[in-house]
Amino acid sequence: MPKTILVTGAAGFIGPVFIQKLLEETDYNIIVVDCLTYAARVENGSSLSLKMVVDLLREKQGSAIDKRYTFIDSDIRSPHIKNIIETNKVDYLINLAAESHVDRSIDGTPEFILTEMLGTHNLLEIIRKNNSENNDKIERAIFVSTDEVYGSIDRMSGYEGERWHALSDAEVSTLIDKYKFTEQTPFSGGSPYASCKGGADLLVGSYYNTFKWNNVTGNVDSTRMPLMITHCVNNFGPFQHPEKLIPMAICTLLMPQVENCKRKIPVYDDGLAVREWIHSEDHVSAIMGVLNGGSIGESYNIGSGIRCRNWQMLKIIFEACKKEAAENGFGSLAEAAFDASRRGGMVRPGHDLCYAADSAKIHDDSKIHWQLKHVKDFEKEIIKVVNWYKQNPDWWKQTWTSPEFTSYWNRKYKKIQETNTEPFDFYSKYKEQLKTTL
Ligand code: NAD
Repeated sequence: MPKTILVTGAAGFIGPVFIQKLLEETDYNIIVVDCLTYAARVENGSSLSLKMVVDLLREKQGSAIDKRYTFIDSDIRSPHIKNIIETNKVDYLINLAAESHVDRSIDGTPEFILTEMLGTHNLLEIIRKNNSENNDKIERAIFVSTDEVYGSIDRMSGYEGERWHALSDAEVSTLIDKYKFTEQTPFSGGSPYASCKGGADLLVGSYYNTFKWNNVTGNVDSTRMPLMITHCVNNFGPFQHPEKLIPMAICTLLMPQVENCKRKIPVYDDGLAVREWIHSEDHVSAIMGVLNGGSIGESYNIGSGIRCRNWQMLKIIFEACKKEAAENGFGSLAEAAFDASRRGGMVRPGHDLCYAADSAKIHDDSKIHWQLKHVKDFEKEIIKVVNWYKQNPDWWKQTWTSPEFTSYWNRKYKKIQETNTEPFDFYSKYKEQLKTTL
């Protein structure tokens, strides 16, 4: 009998890749619950990203997949989730639903508290009641979280702000070796997003601790609260909202000619922040590994070891777009790419300057048996993402030119860029330097 899996928040960036994997590699019945916020690409009232994935798989597997896949427009805070779980006898639950855009969490935090805290609480309560009262138990539940809950290595090491800017790559490497996040690192989220995710993770941990006991026997009963948490580093890949750094750079460079979209790429802290990057496909294969072989009650860091400064990442994107411009005779596009690299002094309050995770635990776990696939040639992987955006303009152009996005962009960046009298030209500053991985 095939298992039934409920995936919440699957209409965003990572979800469609996860659903594709489930459709391709399992026989599970799949239920998606998503309330389609701005983070989901919506067309005709439903998720375009999920439609693209399901259409592709239908071509390969035929209409049988329609019997395995159901989309429900609902909120993880809703009592309706209980009915969905009971009616469908859900075996596995993966919670991807979140408010995940850090910049928006700085503009206003309530939605983040409501989804992360109340949404997670609702799911936990449903699991608790279901697994103590019903015979059809949820066998495993994964709460997908971020390494940002741990804070940032610039603060942990005492090299905040200007002190971080002054560090060489070698010094940064040494600090990463000393401070990279393990599963034991205390939470110290530096943004409202990170602290809301961390709060939700603590709630998950507390539910496991409190309700894993069988009241009759007094022993731990792993079927009561079969919870696990994952903490992943920054993802890259297709379907990412143009508000995020990589797609924002790509969309700026690919669409410089539309007057009301003539934007410059906003880069915080002169591009000196360090991020660890993982392909979304590697992230979802790690989640699958934890679903199949992870131990109940445990949390797992998911990382790739690929760490670079943001300017290094942007340089790869520039080069990819400029090559395209040269090949296709778009002189103005190359010019615009250069122009876009001159950004006005962007500052994000409390900007975290270094994330790096120690993911030895998941790598060394033979039951999870997870291997990274997209790490051999990072530059090529990023160029593939650039190509995805080139090939799928219908997916992002509507968002990029929408009044909602334009007003968001103008409010956050336009005024600062226009009024900055000494634009920092990071392309000129760094162009002679080779891309290095720390
Ligand atoms: P996303 O913002 O692209 O998508 C989130 C999805 O959740 C959207 O489809 C949205 O409509 C839905 N959603 C939001 N609130 C909801 C609610 N109350 N009820 C139901 N659905 C709701 O996020 P993502 O980048 O795909 O990330 C998925 C998960 O992975 C998140 O929990 C995020 O914190 C975590 N994560 C993401 C990254 C990353 O780099 N993107 C890294 C580590 C962890």
